[in-house]
Amino acid sequence: MASLLLFILCIEYMLNLIADILNIKQVRTDLPKEFIGLYETENYAKSQEYLKVNTQFSIMVYTINFIVILAFWFCKGFAWIDTIVRSFELNVIITGLLYVGILCLLKGIMSLPFDIYETFVIEERFGFNKTTWRTYILDLFKGTLLGIIIGGILLSALLFFFEYAGKYAWIWCWIVISCISLVLQWIIPTWILPLFYRFKLLEPGELRDAIFAYANRIQFSLENVFVMDGSRRSTKANAFFTGFGKHKRIVLFDTLIEKHTISHLLAVLAHEMGHFKKGHLIQQIVIQLIHLGIMLALLGYFISNQSLFSAFYMEHISVYAGLLFFSILYTPVDFLMNIGLQMLSRKNEYEADRFAITTTNDPTSLLEALKQLHVENLSNLFPHPFYVLLHYSHPPILERLKAIERSAVIYQH
Ligand SMILES: [Zn+2]
Repeated sequence: MASLLLFILCIEYMLNLIADILNIKQVRTDLPKEFIGLYETENYAKSQEYLKVNTQFSIMVYTINFIVILAFWFCKGFAWIDTIVRSFELNVIITGLLYVGILCLLKGIMSLPFDIYETFVIEERFGFNKTTWRTYILDLFKGTLLGIIIGGILLSALLFFFEYAGKYAWIWCWIVISCISLVLQWIIPTWILPLFYRFKLLEPGELRDAIFAYANRIQFSLENVFVMDGSRRSTKANAFFTGFGKHKRIVLFDTLIEKHTISHLLAVLAHEMGHFKKGHLIQQIVIQLIHLGIMLALLGYFISNQSLFSAFYMEHISVYAGLLFFSILYTPVDFLMNIGLQMLSRKNEYEADRFAITTTNDPTSLLEALKQLHVENLSNLFPHPFYVLLHYSHPPILERLKAIERSAVIYQH
C-alpha cells in the first residue's frame, strides 16, 4: 500500500510539472491579430513575464510541499502526532478534530510565507495588488476562524457518523454534508462575503436600467444588483451571481464597472445569466452532490483498511486518520473527475456565450469585453492543450473568440 500511495503522489506531481513546463515553453512573442491594437508590445511582454514568474513560483511551492509531505510521512510524523493527541485521552471526536486541526495548522504555517510573497511581491510587481497589510492580517484572521468553524462542523459530522453509524455511515454523511453545503450556498453570499467585502446597491442610472431591461426581456427574475469593493484587494475585475429562484442577485466588482462600457458590462452579464438560463448552476450542484456520494462510498470502504494505516506507520486504526490517508488514495479519482468537470465547464462557457450573443444581438461587445478583460488580467493567450486539459475551466481565449465569431455569423444569417 505504501508504494501505491507513493506512486500516486509522484504521478500527480509529475503530471503537474509536465503541464507547467509545456505551458511556459509554449509562450510566443507574436501578437495574434485579434489583439492588435489592444496589447502594446511592452504590455504583451509583461503578460508573458507574469506567466513565467507565476509558473516558476508555483512549481517551487508544490515541489517544496511535495518534499515536506514525503519527509513528514517517512519520518513517521503522522504517527507521532497521533501519539500526542491520544495522550490527552479525550473523546474520540475531539481527538479527531485535534489531529486534523494540528495538521491543517502546520500546513497553514508552511504556506503562509508563500502566500505573502505572492500577494506583496508578485502581484505587487505586476500592479495588481491593492491589499494593505492591515487587510491581509484581518483576512487571515477571519479566514482562519471561518475555516475552523465550517471545517469543524463538517469534520465533526463525518467523524460522528463513521464512528457510530456503522455500515451505512457514508449514506448518513452524504445526506448531512449535502444539506450543510446547500445551506452554505445561501450563507456564503449573505453572511460570509460581507465579512470581507463591502456591498452596496448599484445606484439608479443608465447601467442599472440597461441590466433590468435586459433581464426583463429574457424573463430573468432579478432582485437586485450590487457593487462590491474588489478594488480594496486587487485591480482584477469580476462579476458573479448569487441566490436562487426569485431572489437572484448580481454582484459586480467596482473594478469591472470602472473600466468597462455599459455595453461591455451587459455582454458579460448576459453571459452570466446564460449560465442560469441554461441550467448550468443546477447541473453543477447535482454533479457535486453525486461526486460527494461516490467519494463517501469509497471512503466507507477504505476507512478502516489496515494496510492504509500501516503504510503511515500508525499503531492504531482511527476514523480521523483514515479520512486523511484516504484523501491521498482518492487523488487519482479526483484528478480524473476534475478533468471531466473542467471539460463540461468549458462546454458550458461556449453555451453561455452563444446565449449572450443571441439574446443581446451584440457579439461585438462580448468579443471586446473578453479581450479587454484578458489584457487587463495579463492572461495567457497561448496555453498548452495539456495544461488546458488539467486546469482550464474556461476555453482558451482565442478559441473562445473564434467560436463567438462563428456563432455570430450563423445567427445573423
Ligand atoms: Zn461563464
